[in-house]
Amino acid sequence: MDTRHRKTLIDLLTLPTAPLCEQYVTKYIHGWVRDRPDCHLKRDEYGNLRVHLRRGPAQRRPLLFSAHMDHPGFEAERMLTPDRLLARWRGWVAPEYFAGTRVRFYSNGRWIRGKVSSTKTRVVRGRLRVQTATIAVRERVERGSIGVWDLPDPTVRGSRIYARGCDDVAGVAAVLCALDVLRAGRMAVDVYALLTRGEELGWTGAIVACRSGILPRQARIVAVETSSELPGASVGEGPILRVGDSTGTFTPGLTAFCHEVGLDLARRDRSFKPRRKLMDGGSTETLPYLNAGHEATGMCVALGNYHNMDRRRGRIGPEFIDLGDFAGLVRWFAALARSRRSSDGLGQAVPMMVRRLDRTWASRLRRTADRVSGV
Ligand SMILES: [Zn+2]
Repeated sequence: MDTRHRKTLIDLLTLPTAPLCEQYVTKYIHGWVRDRPDCHLKRDEYGNLRVHLRRGPAQRRPLLFSAHMDHPGFEAERMLTPDRLLARWRGWVAPEYFAGTRVRFYSNGRWIRGKVSSTKTRVVRGRLRVQTATIAVRERVERGSIGVWDLPDPTVRGSRIYARGCDDVAGVAAVLCALDVLRAGRMAVDVYALLTRGEELGWTGAIVACRSGILPRQARIVAVETSSELPGASVGEGPILRVGDSTGTFTPGLTAFCHEVGLDLARRDRSFKPRRKLMDGGSTETLPYLNAGHEATGMCVALGNYHNMDRRRGRIGPEFIDLGDFAGLVRWFAALARSRRSSDGLGQAVPMMVRRLDRTWASRLRRTADRVSGV
C-alpha cells in the first residue's frame, strides 16, 4: 500500500469524531486542501464539505464520492458531581455494550478516561437506544468534548488496521487518497468529494446536502462506506460495489458502470478482485440522494466489529478493515473518475449479450412455437 495513503488513513483514524462533533475531521480536510492548490473547498450552511478537483473541461454529469465524517460517540453535557459526567450518546450501538465499558473524552487537547456507570434508554424507531450515559471520571470534562470508546490509536496487524472507528472516516480517507491519485496523473478529470456530517443520526448531512446547493445538479453519486462484513463479503476479500443496502437497491446504470470499470481493472491485474454484493447489513447515504432524484450507487470495504460491537466476545472492540481492500477501493475510485465509459443504460455488456442471445435463439423459438400452441 502507498505509504502516503497509509499516512492519510492513519492520521484520520486517530482523530476524535462523533455525530454533530466532526470538527477535527473537518479541520484536517481544510489543511489537506490548503496543501493542494488544485483542489477547491466549499462548505454549505450545515457544515458539509465539498472538495472539487478539475483538470480539463467540465463534465456534464461529474462523479461525486460521498463519505461521512462521524462515527457513533458521546458528547459531554455537564458534570453532575466532581467525578460524574453526564454525556449524550448519538448513533447505534446495542445498549448491552455500555455498562462498565471504558471511554475517553477529548477535553482541552488531551484525553480524559472514564467508565460508563449507567445509561438512560428509550425506544426510538422500534429499537431500544441509549440516550445519555453517566460516566465516572477522575477529572472535569469540558462541555462539548467528544467521547469515544477507550481503544488504542490505529494499529496495523498483518494486513488489517484496527481503530476506534473506521465507519466512516476510513471512507473519507479512501476518497481523499483517490483524489491524490488523480492529481498525480495527467488525464482530464472533473470529480467531487462530499464529506458529510451526522450520518449516524440517519443520513442527516446527506439529506440537507440535497437542498443546500452543494451538490452539482447532475452529479452521479457514489456513496462510500465501510459496511458490516457478511458471508461472501468478508474483510480481506476485496473492495465491494454495493447493488443495494438495507433500504433498497441503487441506480442500475451507474452500478453497472462501476462494475464494468472494476472488471476492466481486473482484466489488467489479476490481483484486483472487485466484488458486487447486496450489502444489507446497514444503510448508506444513497437513499437520500436517490430520493432527491440523483443517480446514486454505493461502494465499500467490509468492516469487522461493526459499530465497535465485538459480537463474538460480547464487548466493545476496535473496528477493523483490510489495507488491501482499502487500496483496491482507492484504485477503483480513481479508475471511475478517469473512465470514459458510458454509465447510461445497464452497462455495455448487457445489451451485447441480449443481442447475441436474440440472434441465437429467436428463430428456434419461432420454429418450435407450434409445439407449445394449443396445449
Ligand atoms: Zn455507521
